[in-house]
Amino acid sequence: MNTPPSFIESAFADPASLAAAARLRVVLVGTQHPGNIGAAARALKTMGLARLVLVAPEDYPAEEAYRRAAGADDLLGDAPVVDTLAEAVADCHLVLGCTARSRRVQLEEHAPRQAAAVAVARAAAGGEVALVFGRERTGLSNEELQLCHAAVHIPANPGYSSLNLAAAVQVLAYELRLALLEGAAPATAEPVHPDEVPASHAHMEGFFTQLGDTLDAIDFHKGRTPDSAMRKLRRLFAKAQLNEQEVRLLRGILADAQRMARLAGGGGTGSLS
Ligand code: SAH
Repeated sequence: MNTPPSFIESAFADPASLAAAARLRVVLVGTQHPGNIGAAARALKTMGLARLVLVAPEDYPAEEAYRRAAGADDLLGDAPVVDTLAEAVADCHLVLGCTARSRRVQLEEHAPRQAAAVAVARAAAGGEVALVFGRERTGLSNEELQLCHAAVHIPANPGYSSLNLAAAVQVLAYELRLALLEGAAPATAEPVHPDEVPASHAHMEGFFTQLGDTLDAIDFHKGRTPDSAMRKLRRLFAKAQLNEQEVRLLRGILADAQRMARLAGGGGTGSLS
């Protein structure tokens, strides 16, 4: 969706900022209290953001959500509800996971201001960007954080660092607004060659599945569990910010490695014996 909905059209005077805002989505995963969904919608609309996606909310639709949304029920009404985080971010080029616990995961970590700058720069360059928030009780699972390119932590009181979900959305939405108000002119006026389009989340997940299968096929793990190596590889490739052409090249190499492993394992058709 690149056309901002009418209820947000006047949120930014600069058309480039408005277009970038339309590429930013906030994803709430497994929200337990519907009031927080409404309050998050209100937080977004006050900051001129329009896109909310709900992943398997526990109690929704609900009166309480609409009550707490105040005048943001239009935004709430537009919010798609999907079953999994992977679905919510399939077309995204950058996924940032907000976590109340600093350094819990092996992901690069940004403070909100830095996260907003990165997010707005990516959206201004035409990318789809998601900011992901977890459940009130347990936050995001490790599997869900694995789907993120980087983590965002609001540097709160280390002894009491967990904000209310909608309050955390408000902090990030405010930082996004400040970054958007600074201007969202694309970094380059050069048209991007079709091969250089950044790989989408779904492309990267396809690549990681094939990478995992290949590592199994060449017996890379040698009985160890694959989790730690895969986490490190995910982190490495997230830093590389691959484009579609590069993903195709790597997948070609993996396909050959898989073929060679099959030949080696099965004795092969070209065996000399
Ligand atoms: N008890 C949970 C906290 C959940 S708070 C835990 O320990 O993980 C609900 C959500 O709000 C979190 O998943 C996160 O997305 C966001 N949030 C709360 N405090 C935050 C903080 N200090 N920095 C970043 N995100 C935060």
